[in-house]
Amino acid sequence: MTKRLDQVATGVAPEVAAMAVSASGSRLRGELIKDRLQLLVAPVCLVVARVASPARGPLCRVGLLSVQEAGYVQQKVSHLMSSTRSISPSPIVALASMMRATMSEIQVVDFHTHVHPTARGGLALQRRFQPGAPQRSGSLSEMLAWMAKIGVAKAMIVPWMPAQDLVGELVAKWKGDGKLTEADKLRKAQNLIVQRWRRLNKWGTEAVKAHPKKLMTLVGLDPILMGEALVRREAEERLATGAIGLKIAPLFLGCPPDDPRMEIVWRLADKYRVFVLAQSGKGGYQGRPAWGHPQHFEQVLRSYPHVKIQLAHLGMGHEDVMAKLTAKYPNLYTDTSTRAAHFGTSHDWSYREAAKWIRRIGVERVVYASNYPVADPAAAKANMEALPLTPAEKRLIMSENYKRLVSKG
Ligand SMILES: [Zn+2]
Repeated sequence: MTKRLDQVATGVAPEVAAMAVSASGSRLRGELIKDRLQLLVAPVCLVVARVASPARGPLCRVGLLSVQEAGYVQQKVSHLMSSTRSISPSPIVALASMMRATMSEIQVVDFHTHVHPTARGGLALQRRFQPGAPQRSGSLSEMLAWMAKIGVAKAMIVPWMPAQDLVGELVAKWKGDGKLTEADKLRKAQNLIVQRWRRLNKWGTEAVKAHPKKLMTLVGLDPILMGEALVRREAEERLATGAIGLKIAPLFLGCPPDDPRMEIVWRLADKYRVFVLAQSGKGGYQGRPAWGHPQHFEQVLRSYPHVKIQLAHLGMGHEDVMAKLTAKYPNLYTDTSTRAAHFGTSHDWSYREAAKWIRRIGVERVVYASNYPVADPAAAKANMEALPLTPAEKRLIMSENYKRLVSKG
């Protein structure tokens, strides 16, 4: 039988139970203080509160709160604890209604998309990597329409291109052209592709300026192609104009993230206190080794403890390594891009397996992302909502964890 909390609270002053919890990793450890109201305080200052009667079962189940609300709740708890037997019901009612309100305000954030300035660019990216006709155009207007339709409050633009491949393709296209030397062709192709990428990065910051409440963006970089001086200039320019992190894809760089030529990326992230999103996974691509293997990031995670790293796709096939690394390095995060859209299908984990692996990696380290337009954003969101995780865990993944990645602390 379930009773409303205020019905209980306005009766005889209830015995209040509070569980103040300090947490490490995804495990909450608590100390039972009283026996009816339980407040679980998580490390990121979020609070799960649950009001339960041992005899009647849960009366009110509420979710995670913001940092400010958590501070307020902690104050209230210590007040309640100090007032022992003469507890007034009103603070409990106020707390419960505040918590309920908070639960209904989950703002879903899609933290990894490859939206493009034009449908042409979005379609070209998909045709390159996916068999069959693209299902979505990948244009900004299409993505904004999707967000409104399926209830996504904010999305991250990831301006990226397989630049070295594109350079190789241009040089091959100019093969018969005898007017230029091979060296000139290479230089010309490199300049063209780097310029194109810089325009994409710039467009990302302009899109954020046009939709500041709905969009965020990164700076896509290739230190091998661009060279250290240009990487520095590009990152500094774009970070100064609204980008909030850096993006690399080792699989397309021809070297792992701990290669000395990649040092500039980690140094810049450290200097400007921004996070780095990196492609990751156990797979190679068209004969290349798996430069993005999560293990290749360990040296960087250790050397740059203040640089937060988001490894995409839950480690794509190396979730075990990801879980080992998240347990060891507090600066490591991962995202559900590509994977979420396939949970519950023959292409990926069952819902039960997905929930198990997400908990193993750490619910406070996984950030929700779709990888739109490559993956279906509606399926990704619906699958995440269907996972057998608690509302509090889903709230962390879909709405809260990204905030720690973008915070400069
Ligand atoms: Zn991606």
